[in-house]
Amino acid sequence: MPVKYELVIKGGRVVDPQQGIDDDRDVAITGDRVAAVDPTIDAGPETEVIDARGKLVTPGLIDVHVHVYSGVSHYGIEPDPHCLRQGATTVYDAGSSGADTFAGFKKYVIDVSATRIKAYLHISSQGMLNPDIGELTDLRYADVARAVRMCEENRDDIVGIKIRMSRALVGENGLESLKRAREVCDATGLSLMVHPNGSPVSFARIMDELRAGDVCTHCYHSSDTGILDDDDKVRPEARRAAARGVLFDVGHGQGSFVYSVADAALAQDFRANTISSDLHRYNLHGPVYSLATTASKFLQLGWTLNEVIEKVTSGPARTRGVLGKVGTLKPGACADVAIFELQTGTFEFRDAKDELRIGEQKLVPVLTLRDGKPYAPDDGHPHHPHQPHHHHH
Ligand SMILES: [Zn+2]
Repeated sequence: MPVKYELVIKGGRVVDPQQGIDDDRDVAITGDRVAAVDPTIDAGPETEVIDARGKLVTPGLIDVHVHVYSGVSHYGIEPDPHCLRQGATTVYDAGSSGADTFAGFKKYVIDVSATRIKAYLHISSQGMLNPDIGELTDLRYADVARAVRMCEENRDDIVGIKIRMSRALVGENGLESLKRAREVCDATGLSLMVHPNGSPVSFARIMDELRAGDVCTHCYHSSDTGILDDDDKVRPEARRAAARGVLFDVGHGQGSFVYSVADAALAQDFRANTISSDLHRYNLHGPVYSLATTASKFLQLGWTLNEVIEKVTSGPARTRGVLGKVGTLKPGACADVAIFELQTGTFEFRDAKDELRIGEQKLVPVLTLRDGKPYAPDDGHPHHPHQPHHHHH
């Protein structure tokens, strides 16, 4: 008798906003695909079972802003322990590499990691190498032709261009660098991700360069050139950009997610399209920790569980044109699944200014599957987590 499914995740509360599911469901997996999501799926004697009763089961999370060029970019962390094993099956590296350094990023990180990694290529050809020298203070690094060529040669891996507009990073070259980034995007059809914090170029002028599908990350930062004006009103330029399809992304980071800004923006119903971590070396041990912790902060801010999960699954997938492949548990999708405990209690969440909020719920990763393969959290101790065995026939 043929085995119908290789693996069934049984009895969990499945939250899949793309399919409108928030209910107890079994999830069946065959090979690297989701095969079925139903109230009850008969496992059969040959089927491996993961008991998810009392757990939350979601599509593998998508983090659209991380830094995982470990060993080269000073921000870099290892993707598998900090992303995949913490629930994020797909991540987008936000400019750690540029045209001079992308080949190494692909060879030594993208191609050998279990985490699914896509890249925003930095308009500076060095990427983000050095903590003391701004990557665009010398305009020779902003080479349009070389960036275009790198994008064209790596269409499967590079999804867009990144630029950081902070004074110390661009020097006198803010507007010219931004125009060059725009030029690369126009030539390749790829999107532009802008970090606008503390820029010599005005917020309005930065927004002028952004089109539908482009991304303004760090949307709740509190430096100059943010979404709020001096009276804490959402700037009309931010609203107009959102209306024409520019995406606003959290990008928590070390200095870019501030409760007072989020409070003001949310009170004016200006909501981020995606929740991302900006996870890197300097925030991994606080205040960010992980994408799941970042998402938990939005539960504390009063977002529903469904909305929070949507912003880290189908939301980022849809806006990057990959919904259906990832971002959902719809049959046929990649078998990327995150299993969490939705813990209740008293949890401390700090923003980038060290402001403390107390939350009552926290998403704690238990097990993550990428393409049907399980990855348990790496707690630094050797242990033997439940590793479902895959039967091959
Ligand atoms: Zn970043």
